[in-house]
This record gives sequence, C-alpha cells and structure tokens, in this order.
Amino acid sequence: MPELPEVQTVVDTLRPRVLNRIIRAIELSRTDIVHPAAFDLAASLTGRTIAAIARRGKRIVISLDDGNRFYVHLGMTGRLTIEPSANAIEKHTHLIAKLDEGEVSLRFRDPRRFGGIFWLSSSGQSGDLGPEPLKLRPVQLARLLRGTTRAIKSALLDQRLIAGLGNIYVDEALFVAGIHPLTRARALSAEQVRRLNRAIKGTLRRAIRYRGSTLRDYVDGNGASGAFQLRHCVYDREGEPCRTCKMSIRRIVLGRRSTHFCPRCQRRSMKCAR
Ligand SMILES: [Zn+2]
Repeated sequence: MPELPEVQTVVDTLRPRVLNRIIRAIELSRTDIVHPAAFDLAASLTGRTIAAIARRGKRIVISLDDGNRFYVHLGMTGRLTIEPSANAIEKHTHLIAKLDEGEVSLRFRDPRRFGGIFWLSSSGQSGDLGPEPLKLRPVQLARLLRGTTRAIKSALLDQRLIAGLGNIYVDEALFVAGIHPLTRARALSAEQVRRLNRAIKGTLRRAIRYRGSTLRDYVDGNGASGAFQLRHCVYDREGEPCRTCKMSIRRIVLGRRSTHFCPRCQRRSMKCAR
C-alpha cells in the first residue's frame, strides 16, 4: 500500500504537469469510488482549474480555483497518473479527467477499490488525521505515545495518531531505532522516543529520495516504479540475513498485519505488549 514516501512522490511528479490546467471533461465509469455517495463529481470538477496539489498523510489533496478541495486515496492498488489521452485505457480505470485541450488526462485506476475520491468542499478539513511525521518533534511523539497502551507497531500505524506511516515504514523505522515492534508504546524511554523520531524521519526522507517502494502496484504520477524496496532492512525480507548482524529477519503477525524485525538488533524487553 502506498505510504507517505510513495504519495509524496506521486504529488511531486504530478504537480508540474497538472498545476493551473483546466479540467475539460470528466469520465467516471464507477460512481462507487466517489464519496460521499451520489455526489456529482463531474459537475463540480468540469471547467475548474487545478490550483494546488499537496500531500496530507497518505492523501493526495487537490485544490480547485473555486476554493473547493477533494482528495484521492490510493488504498492498496490505486494509481493516479497523467498520460496522453491517446493511451489505451487500462482495465479498472474508474476516472479520467481530460485537461486543457483534452490531449492529456489524469487517470485514477484501482483494481481492488480500497481507494477512492473524497470530496472535501471548501471548508472540509482533514481533521481526522494526526500530525505529519516529518514535522514531529520528540516531545510531541512522546506525548502521543504516552496516551496508548498498544504495541508501538500498532500505535504508529494509527493514522489518527500520526498520519502517513504504514506497514513498510513502521517496520523499517523500528529497525533503525532498534526497538522491538511489540514494545508497549508508553513504555519507551525518552531516549528511545528520540531515536524513533529520528529513525522515522530518516527512513521517510531516504524513501522519498529513492522515489518510494514498489512491491506490487505502486507507480508515481508518470507511471514509473520506486527503488526503495531494494534498500529495505527488514520489510518483506523474512529469512534473509540482517544487514547489520546477519541474523535471520523474522516475521510475525500483529493485528492481522505482517511485522518484520531482527530478533538481535531489536531485542524484546519485559515491557513488550504480549
Ligand atoms: Zn540484526
């Protein structure tokens, strides 16, 4: 699933190609990807100019010249790409927005449909999301973690606590910080929180530099794959040697999600959640 680095890369690649362009026509082949249900997206978008595109958490937020906004969530398999309108339309393309004279289009494709398009209007806020991890200070992170009894891995996946992290980058950041994923969030020492805060930022910045991780479906706004998956320390590396100590990377299931860690570099303490 695309996380902060992937969504940031999509936004960065789309921005120069969509900004200040007019949405000339909308073709919507599946209305159930639009939220709220039955909202007339085509009427609200046609004739408008794209005034801004930004990332908030894992969301791609697009602002229009009339002040209205909406966001695209890529879910598991979503892609938001800009391409020549003459390109063949791939299966599961649910929305096509033709831009300017119609020669290029912004296309949203999502085979599994966990993603979608969410109308925010002009006043709608992303108030259900926690702070951005790249702007988080250690004291803020400590305060957020003190309020939960969950394992640190589960706490960091909660978008209401911190927005943008998912399975890949939580596993990677916990490895860099040397923290076992089952450690209770509130049991982390001040030093561990500082290390974790640094590890989260460092991991995300590196991943953005490598244009995200392509494990299956993810591509940027131009249709190109990321390269950070080749540099993962633990994620999707079960049984492979730890890059630091050569011990086999382990995988456990926590809250139905795969969790990868090095049993030597991320020692389990008595303060683990189970
Ligand atoms: Zn190790």
